[in-house]
Amino acid sequence: MPRPVLLPFAPAAAAPAPRPRALRRRAGGGVEARGDARGRGRGRGLAMRARAAGEAGPAPSRTQMIMDKISSGEEVGGAGGAHSYSALKRLDQIWSSICEAQADSKVPEVVTRVQGPLVDYDCGDGSEIFDVLVCGGTLGIFVATALSYKGLRVGIIERNIIKGREQEWNISRKELMEIVEVGILSEEEIEQIILSEFNPNRCGFESKGEIWLENILNLGISPAKVVEIMKERFVSSGGAVFEGKSLSSIYVHDDLAVLNLSDGGCLPCRLVIDAMGNFSPIVRQIRSGRKPDGVCLVVGACARGFDRNTTGDIIFSSSSIKKSGKSGVQLFWEAFPAGSGPTDRTTYMFTVVDPQFGGPKLEELLETFWNLMPVYQDVVLENLDIRRVIFGIFPTYRDSPLPAAFDRVLQVGDASGIQSPVSFGGFGSLTRHLGRLSTGIYEAVSGDLLDARSLQQLNPYMPNLSASWLFQRAMSARPQINVAPTFINDLLFANFQSMQKLGDSVLRPFLQDVIQFDPLVKTLGLVMITRPQILPSIFNQAGLGAILDWSGHFVMLGYYTFLSTFIDPVLRPWVESLPLKNKYQWKRYLEAWKYGAGLDYRQEE
Ligand SMILES: Cc1cc2nc3c(=O)[nH]c(=O)nc-3n(C[C@H](O)[C@H](O)[C@H](O)COP(=O)(O)OP(=O)(O)OC[C@H]3O[C@@H](n4cnc5c(N)ncnc54)[C@H](O)[C@@H]3O)c2cc1C
Repeated sequence: MPRPVLLPFAPAAAAPAPRPRALRRRAGGGVEARGDARGRGRGRGLAMRARAAGEAGPAPSRTQMIMDKISSGEEVGGAGGAHSYSALKRLDQIWSSICEAQADSKVPEVVTRVQGPLVDYDCGDGSEIFDVLVCGGTLGIFVATALSYKGLRVGIIERNIIKGREQEWNISRKELMEIVEVGILSEEEIEQIILSEFNPNRCGFESKGEIWLENILNLGISPAKVVEIMKERFVSSGGAVFEGKSLSSIYVHDDLAVLNLSDGGCLPCRLVIDAMGNFSPIVRQIRSGRKPDGVCLVVGACARGFDRNTTGDIIFSSSSIKKSGKSGVQLFWEAFPAGSGPTDRTTYMFTVVDPQFGGPKLEELLETFWNLMPVYQDVVLENLDIRRVIFGIFPTYRDSPLPAAFDRVLQVGDASGIQSPVSFGGFGSLTRHLGRLSTGIYEAVSGDLLDARSLQQLNPYMPNLSASWLFQRAMSARPQINVAPTFINDLLFANFQSMQKLGDSVLRPFLQDVIQFDPLVKTLGLVMITRPQILPSIFNQAGLGAILDWSGHFVMLGYYTFLSTFIDPVLRPWVESLPLKNKYQWKRYLEAWKYGAGLDYRQEE
């Protein structure tokens, strides 16, 4: 079996000869975030001092030169909301510390359980007891609004301001409509937040073949607009906003939780919702700083100057395993027309890596991006007006979603790990679960079922999410594994081709991050019949342990499908007649079966 060959990219040969033209500056500009302004100031100061002392500092990377030429605009707190070079460096430091993390590393304690009721507290004048306090205002504002609409007294704490990023979220209309069903956004408002709409969209793997689809990830919506609408709605429904305040610690008592804020203030509530994203300090405490099982690294740019800009790429792979920095990576592309102008296009390049083996820094990936993107998009980099550089890291854990670890504290959004490990569509994932979560949280608060066990039922084991782990493993280049460098693309193409043959009912849920038993069985069956020679490489790439683990989830996926299809309809009338606590528990079981088997997914007419 050949060993993976790391193919170093050869920019001069690969890229069409550029017609040199100075990179244009982005017109207009926003306010720079304070952190960024300080970071840049420091960087420039050091460079100037070094020049004054006659030292030749390291030449700035192409990434730094490009980023320094663009006004980074206003940066916001949510994932993908920062665009400056200093923010990139900060995230690269976090990525390095993830790779270096030791299992026994000391993690700051944010949540402390205090036995007994809260007897005495002083949170200042007029401090009221909230039903729910949501920490983190990106996806948190959607949950907060849904709960406030149900009549709960809700507050939201955000360390910056509650504001969505400028860079669009790509999503399908079907997913957006789930927010309309929850009742917090109208169909007219959906039209207002859509900035771009395009069809068809492609899935392609080198020159092996292409699959074109309509209405999947074909909308670009404005996070800034939708978060603004949500915030207005939240406030007008009586919600309280605490901006510019950071959560520092939580004391959980038998009857209440008290949140201590970085400005010295405190707020009492019955339930805390942790919507602080992938780097939530509470999640870090729960996971004891453990290394994630996988990491998705994404870089990209939104740029003006694409003459061909009417279709999108959901997933496209233009090469086999390549070298980026010191690591071998399998790179994938996503590209979508952007709403800011007819020739504006967002291009993402992403890779999934095992942090056990490390991986390239984001800056290294961006250097690779500038070399490969023009070839992939058939453009000349120097002719593009780069409006924004985008980057992010998504740590993923096998034991996801994260079950509640404390009484009165529940994770939602990226913090809960409920999104697929093979995509970075966290907003899309929230839309899918918002109805289930908001109803379940409302019932838990009104029934005072806020112990960790009851809350765990809101983020239950979902075999379809666990089964998608193998896909992440299959998509990542693994050193010292005896498979051909083309294997990942071969495997993905074989799967996509089989799914296409099996029809929309198989391909469409998969592309919207929903794994179901029947389509999975059919796809695997077809791949085994048509491409049996690929099986030994699958075992090599994934490893026996991961395959055995996956087989367990696969069996559970079948079991949950059976339970939800046949047992749920029989039990449902009985569940409705149960006393409050039992009813709450059984309703959560029924939901776990349905969502864990992907049966919440409805095919479009
Ligand atoms: C490059 C990139 C592209 C993406 N594209 C898409 C896409 O096309 N479609 C899609 O569906 N998703 C996309 N995503 C994912 C999406 O952006 C995330 O899933 C979403 O932002 C997660 O929201 P969150 O609120 O869970 O976490 P975050 O976005 O991380 O937000 C956490 C919030 O908590 C606040 N916070 C943190 N600590 C504290 C504290 N101590 N006290 C108070 N507040 C705190 C932060 O300021 C922030 O506002 C993309 C992400 C990236 C990085």
